[in-house]
Amino acid sequence: MKLRFYIISCLFMVLIANTAFSQDLNKEVFSLINLNYSGLEKVKKLHDAGNDSLAMAALLDYYRNRTGIVNPDLNPEKPSVNPDEKKMAEDALDHVFFSYVGFKPLNYGKDIDWTYWPVRDNELRWQLHRQKWFIPMGKMFRLTGDEKYAREWTLQYMDWIKKNPLIPQVKKELSKEEQLKEDNKVDDNNMRYAWRPMEVSHRLSDQYAIFQLFQTAKAFTPEFLATFLWNTHRHANFVITHYSKEGNHLLFEAQRMLYAGVFFPEFKDAETWRKSGAEILNREMPKQVYADGFQFELDPGYHTGCIGIFLSALRVAETNGYKTAFPVGYKQTIVRMIEAYYNVLLPDYSLPMFSDLSQKIKRDALKNFREWAVAFPENEQIRYFATEGKEGKAPEYASKAFKISGFYTFRTNWTEKATALVLKAGPPAGWHCQPDNGTFNLMFNGRNFFPDAGSYSYGGDEEVTRMRESFRLTSMHNTLTLDNKNLETADSKCLLWDVSGSTEKLVVENPSYKGLNHRRSVFFVDKKYFVIVDEAYGTAAGKVRLHYQLCEGDVKLNIAENKAFTQFDDNNNIVLKTFCNQSQQMEEQEGWISYKAKQKSPRKAFSFVVDKKTTEPVRYITVIYPDKQAANAPEIKAGFITKKFDAKKGVFFVKINGKKTTLSFKLD
Ligand code: MG
Repeated sequence: MKLRFYIISCLFMVLIANTAFSQDLNKEVFSLINLNYSGLEKVKKLHDAGNDSLAMAALLDYYRNRTGIVNPDLNPEKPSVNPDEKKMAEDALDHVFFSYVGFKPLNYGKDIDWTYWPVRDNELRWQLHRQKWFIPMGKMFRLTGDEKYAREWTLQYMDWIKKNPLIPQVKKELSKEEQLKEDNKVDDNNMRYAWRPMEVSHRLSDQYAIFQLFQTAKAFTPEFLATFLWNTHRHANFVITHYSKEGNHLLFEAQRMLYAGVFFPEFKDAETWRKSGAEILNREMPKQVYADGFQFELDPGYHTGCIGIFLSALRVAETNGYKTAFPVGYKQTIVRMIEAYYNVLLPDYSLPMFSDLSQKIKRDALKNFREWAVAFPENEQIRYFATEGKEGKAPEYASKAFKISGFYTFRTNWTEKATALVLKAGPPAGWHCQPDNGTFNLMFNGRNFFPDAGSYSYGGDEEVTRMRESFRLTSMHNTLTLDNKNLETADSKCLLWDVSGSTEKLVVENPSYKGLNHRRSVFFVDKKYFVIVDEAYGTAAGKVRLHYQLCEGDVKLNIAENKAFTQFDDNNNIVLKTFCNQSQQMEEQEGWISYKAKQKSPRKAFSFVVDKKTTEPVRYITVIYPDKQAANAPEIKAGFITKKFDAKKGVFFVKINGKKTTLSFKLD
């Protein structure tokens, strides 16, 4: 009876499949799968009897009825589709594909041209090969039952395989610098894009979810299954032999190898894949995560991404019976990473757009916290953020320093109306990290008065790279430059962090240029306003500039008084005034902000310029004072009590409406 059923269903499926595409049975699969795997008895029997078509139909039947493998990322019975995913799926039916944020979905033609590349931005070309619309198509298929999604998906899946052949390349051993150059060059070798390990691992990672969503489709025939499994296998084999050297790419690739091993345990290589993924994650975690909890690329976006990687791997391993894959310390590190994350969040739950980050708002943070709260239900702080303070407990501290990675937050409390300044001044951190040591974001009453400029663009041809560089500039940040050049060295050290008194203090120093060090001291005076002391000392001569970039909106500059102020009509404003030990000139400079790739808006930016001709240090004091209206702003004065730069201490004063406050620090 059952044999007859296979014959009928097989014939039926072949008939359906032939209307969509003609396909020979890929018999290689039988050598890749462990036919002695429990549940594959019929497949083995049919294959041994030489009836591979029926064996493949039996294999499809096995997969459709398989239980015990859990994908915690997806419930195929009840998929949720957001409007963006729905649009992605609908567009894809017309070969209009979404590649990545910042680019509109493009039409790749009736006969899909996978090499179409109208703007020579590498991400646009790379990320096309992540096929991000496949899962949305699968979800739409499940929700509507409309076979058109499945039919189109199988056609695109096969078309991609046909037009993007895997051509073996000569593997070169490259140094870190050579690799970076190689990664960011622009050429037309399709292998560099379609088969970059990061893209391959992305597709590999999605294989099981796509399979779960489409497996009930008529278009998912035994022949298609054969190609699908063969393709999954060669993807996994490619990733395991082409791991990236380091960084978040390697973590992504390892997590996805683990997925492949767990979700497709029938492959002979599955155990090797699973073990390799877990081993790399366990090995890389202490290398890539500093003891204070930040991922070493010092980019809040990649930091968040890496929490996701470690957690996904843990969840998939634990729900599928591999509880010993990750030791207790692995879980504890993830919690430390989450703690680092919420400490750099601004009070409105947005992330400062440091380094390569684009805008991340409250919705993004809540999504993260809710996911993390499920993974760590006993953690009171995660629950506090996940429920916006309704449950759980806020951290017992407010201000916090991460001295190894160089993130420092002054904060009044954990409410959305809190005042918070997040400063970045860390060690060298690679490609994603901008040369911005000393820069900060500052929020009063829910307004980020000093948002970071963002990243605007990733790598690509000369023009695209120029766009990227223009947003990486040190001068696009709230810090100090020499002759408007980018920092030659970005390796800040923490000299002091003291939040024991009513005025909180931080002193960091960076050997910014040959012959010029930058010591920045920040005082959070009575936890009400900020005083920033910048001291540039050393033998170098040239134009020293102290840069500030204010938020968009009504911002006024008063060049004669070295002052800037905002004029918002919601009684939430600031005044910034700078003093210097030498003759300074306030100058307006070009100012931009980019919330996502390829989009930018102008804003006010300015710098305080001193022509440093001698070894005499240039010393600035900047007062940033919040007020309801600029017109009512107090009279601000400030000056140096220690007249000369002192490597061991500093004493200054501020006078607000005649009331003098002395500020000081002493270093060991
Ligand atoms: Mg930046």
